[in-house]
Amino acid sequence: MNQSTTLRTPFRLLGRLALWQQILIGLALGIAVGLAFKQDALVLAPIGRLFLNAIKMLIVPLVFVSLVAGITSMKDSAKLGRISIKTIVVYLVTTAFAVSIGLLFGALFSPGDGMNMVASGTAETKEAPSLVSILVGLVPSNPVTAFAEGNILQIIVFAIAMGISMNLVGERAAPAVRLFDGLAETFYKLTDLVMRVAPFGVFALTAGVVGSHGAEVLLPLAGVIGVIYLASIAHVLLVYGGLLGLVGRLSPLRFLQGIAPALAVAFSTSSSAGTLPVSIECARKNLGVSEGVAGFVLPVGATINMDGTAIYQGVLALFIAQAFGIDLSAGQYLMIILTATLASIGTAGIPGAGLIMLGLVLTSAGLPLEGVALIAGIDRILDMARTTVNVAGDLMTTTLIGRSENELDREVYDSAGAQ
Ligand code: ASP
Repeated sequence: MNQSTTLRTPFRLLGRLALWQQILIGLALGIAVGLAFKQDALVLAPIGRLFLNAIKMLIVPLVFVSLVAGITSMKDSAKLGRISIKTIVVYLVTTAFAVSIGLLFGALFSPGDGMNMVASGTAETKEAPSLVSILVGLVPSNPVTAFAEGNILQIIVFAIAMGISMNLVGERAAPAVRLFDGLAETFYKLTDLVMRVAPFGVFALTAGVVGSHGAEVLLPLAGVIGVIYLASIAHVLLVYGGLLGLVGRLSPLRFLQGIAPALAVAFSTSSSAGTLPVSIECARKNLGVSEGVAGFVLPVGATINMDGTAIYQGVLALFIAQAFGIDLSAGQYLMIILTATLASIGTAGIPGAGLIMLGLVLTSAGLPLEGVALIAGIDRILDMARTTVNVAGDLMTTTLIGRSENELDREVYDSAGAQ
């Protein structure tokens, strides 16, 4: 065997694996290289950024055209209303579970006990936006600005309004409907192409993050990192697995297999908005969810449904109270539940957004804001876990709603991840 054949053989073998398997191998190799080469692993950063740019390039056009195409494929406006209500209800219920699991694990394992921190009360605080300003901000005064700024919520509102109008116009809008259909297919194909290089992108991104977070940074806070990862895994297995199995009568294992590419991209990019194109692709191709449901439920979820962030806020609020030796009153618990839920809804699907929102939860519950500084150094490692749960939650809700609306192809679902 000459040298080039020796090199080609492992690549050929890898090429025969399903994409999700290739991506998971990229992830594992990324962790290994990051641990072995530490800061030097950052030479791979440009490859990671290239991949990240390629998927980010898809977000705005893909969300817009797939949502318009999805709405025009659902002529029945009562159905659209029903799907919207179900989406909000499932998102709220799973978020409530998430905060509770976060608090439960924080209380059970008490990761902050014995840290003896002293508060000085100097950290910066962040104001919560008012409900009225959030609602007013939903409607874009200029859609082009919304596109340019990548404001997903405004793009969703504009796309829904446009889709409904096209349905109302009827026959004369038919060419526009076909145009959006064709564009949506084009962007799905483009996502497919970008995903073929995902194993390399995920590898490079993971190696960079693991390499730049050495043991010195992570070890002192290993307890709280462990509790957040544990609570996240418990939430996915118990809440998502339970809902899919008991309510949807669908195999949770097939679900996890089908969404593995999206989970790996979420884990390595720490951005649920950035993972959106991959989530839509997984929902349609691997889980068999219809374009209409996936195109609507997923972009909404990537913006407002953040179960992983809610778990993180719950565990950290308790951790910080324990670290600073503060006994929480029932009122403070209530405040944490309330603000963690609201903060998770208001968190943007970008890296590090949850840490800023943590400040909000701490202030409202009367806890020391230095907690934010304590966590900042390890936040990226926590962000990887919470983003993965955030994306899994969006996909679980999409699957459940697809199933309940008869918009899920069972044959595709049962062969999830086979391609
Ligand atoms: N990075 C998370 C996401 O994109 C948000 C957060 O920071 O909590 O889902």
